[in-house]
Amino acid sequence: MNKITNHMPTAELQALDAAHHMHPFTDNSALARKGARIMTSGKGVWLTDSEGHKIIDGMAGLWCVNIGYGRTELGDVAKAQMDQLAYYNTFFQTSHVPAIALAAKIAEVAPEGMNHVFFAGSGSEANDTNIRMVRRYWDILGQPEKRIIIARVNGYHGSTMGGGSLGGMSGIHAHGGKIAGIVHIGEPNWWDQGGQMTPEAFGLMRAQELEKMILNLGVENVAAFIGEPVQGAGGVIIPPSTYWPEIQRICDHYGILLIADEVITGFGRTGNWFGSQTFGIKPDIMTIAKGLSSGYQPIGGSIVSDRVAEVLGSKGDFNHGYTYSGHPVAAAVALENIRIMQEEKIVEHVRDVANPYLDKKWQGLTDHPLVGEAKLVGLMGSIALTPDKASRARFAGEQGTVGYRCRERCFANDLIMRHVGDRMIISPPLVITPDEIDVLIERAWKSLDECYAGLKADGLLKSA
Ligand SMILES: *Cc1c(COP(=O)(O)O)cnc(C)c1O
Repeated sequence: MNKITNHMPTAELQALDAAHHMHPFTDNSALARKGARIMTSGKGVWLTDSEGHKIIDGMAGLWCVNIGYGRTELGDVAKAQMDQLAYYNTFFQTSHVPAIALAAKIAEVAPEGMNHVFFAGSGSEANDTNIRMVRRYWDILGQPEKRIIIARVNGYHGSTMGGGSLGGMSGIHAHGGKIAGIVHIGEPNWWDQGGQMTPEAFGLMRAQELEKMILNLGVENVAAFIGEPVQGAGGVIIPPSTYWPEIQRICDHYGILLIADEVITGFGRTGNWFGSQTFGIKPDIMTIAKGLSSGYQPIGGSIVSDRVAEVLGSKGDFNHGYTYSGHPVAAAVALENIRIMQEEKIVEHVRDVANPYLDKKWQGLTDHPLVGEAKLVGLMGSIALTPDKASRARFAGEQGTVGYRCRERCFANDLIMRHVGDRMIISPPLVITPDEIDVLIERAWKSLDECYAGLKADGLLKSA
């Protein structure tokens, strides 16, 4: 079932794709020459492409297919909801059962004191909501000049105008610019930037950039700080243990709002329901999307603390919302996803089974000559490729060249592992079993070996 057996030959699909489909985050003319890899079905942690390859998906799609592919219960729920009530909005004092039930369920699994949800269609949209929400919050409290949001270099918060501006990626800012009122501090990336400091001292120093920035701007102008508990798209940068406690202290001390972007780290990814719990963060707002529905339907949102919700509700309308805020089909599917996560104890599986098993094997990758450090929290991990482990050197030549070559070897070996610069990252479906982890690791070793041999042959094992 669900297998498309009568699709066109791959080359024809690729030609149509190149002719008509503009891909996100893709060099479309380069892709046209090469042809897209076309996925046709999925089951658990496995994908099948149009050539019949069985690929292990080390990225859970784009960090989102947490319960794995092919759970037909979600389709059943979607069909039933479409038949019952395909659409209604949640504007102007109306509601419907799926949005009500999902908001209540999210409040149940969210940390204490976070009992309110504003729905969006994606993570980017939810972060756009957050920009407006924190500014509205201070406006209601009689401090409308508190508008600036402090974010981080190499953070990722989506790709709308607001989300892309909150993110600290120069490549995104270069295409279309950046909205006013958002500034960036450094990232807690010790491997690349820590120099001779210990990770702990470096983490503290990077957190204290927040304090310096607040004092520079004047606390009376600062609305909020936003960060991912673990930077995802930036390369799975797991911060030193000193980082988040210091960020929390600074936010508390200056009374600025703390937004945890949990789009990746939410819904079990780090071995707790939310990354904020793993890192001891007490946010005022959490951004959610991706794992909320395991990607089966597009839905995102902001989980809002009682304190912020109370202020927002105290003074008339919040003039903001999306046609699809709390879409009934998406909400019903997300609710079913969370039901499965709870009943099958998927968060516990990550914490007690998959993480401990993978962690040992992941650390083992540092025995490979290309791998400098291996980091893992829950089921998100990264390895740093380097020509010289002792000095944590970068490769000579353009950054990302080696990562790209390694990614291509993974692809050839039917393993999806992404590269960010010269880091390789994974974020597999949370249901991955020890046997499947063995396959993932075996293919990763093979790909690293092939990458290493290729670099050697091409004389590319040189430090910058
Ligand atoms: C993916 C992502 C987003 C953006 O979500 P979209 O659904 O792609 O808009 C925002 N924040 C983080 C941390 C993400 O990883």
